[in-house]
Amino acid sequence: MAMTLASCGGATYEETRSNNSAAAKTERNSEKSTPDAKQTEQPTPQKPTSLTDRWTAGQVVSQAEIDVTGIDNCFTSTEIPDAIFAKMQGKSWPDNCTLKRSDLRYLRLLHCNADGKPQMGELVVNQKIADKVVKIFRELYDRQYRIEKMHLIDEYDGNDDASMADNNTSSFNFRFVPGTKNISKHSYGLAIDINPLYNPYIPIRNGKPHVMPPNGEPYAFNRDTAQFPYKITRDDLACQLFRKAGFNWGGSWPRSKDYQHFQWVE
Ligand SMILES: [Zn+2]
Repeated sequence: MAMTLASCGGATYEETRSNNSAAAKTERNSEKSTPDAKQTEQPTPQKPTSLTDRWTAGQVVSQAEIDVTGIDNCFTSTEIPDAIFAKMQGKSWPDNCTLKRSDLRYLRLLHCNADGKPQMGELVVNQKIADKVVKIFRELYDRQYRIEKMHLIDEYDGNDDASMADNNTSSFNFRFVPGTKNISKHSYGLAIDINPLYNPYIPIRNGKPHVMPPNGEPYAFNRDTAQFPYKITRDDLACQLFRKAGFNWGGSWPRSKDYQHFQWVE
């Protein structure tokens, strides 16, 4: 079925809709009494509109759905739900994880995808920065900042290389800094990587720059002059908002560069 969807800027376009929209329509229709309705069917209890129930990460949503839900409800922070915590086990949350579950928050964040369409994303971050991060992503959305996708790193089995190579925006992952025995800020959910394929991490190893992910090589050098999507520079909106909120940007580090990386400064 085709219906009108909105871009992040409010303009409209046509797109084939997902099953979720059909389900929402069925739900609305069920409020009316129709001759076809099964009289024996028990009415479904009315539940408050919940993104957690209805929208999955990566799902493009219509302006009508956003309006029904309320834009403020498209940017939420909750304690880690049971289903999410189960999904994290052995992935972003290994057996030797030293955090408490209550140290983390589960965020649902609307963002503008590659085509400028509103898309649902999810992120796990430290409770200390959760509200700040929600506020930043709300402003990024309002100002049509493009983020290709935002899935939990557990969808990549906790493999950061795979997540980066897929240009996936993520935060919490209990792990060591690649190639070292140091605990990363990501282990505490205190760092966020944005559009990592186009903003690679470039540590210096044996005196040479090492591009991670490897398919980020075309975006690793000559960044002042090179033109490509999702490029984070000092003047980039995400960079400005994160810095203003008290985060440090990896692109400003003197030796190694981590253009995708924003970390909370204690
Ligand atoms: Zn990072």
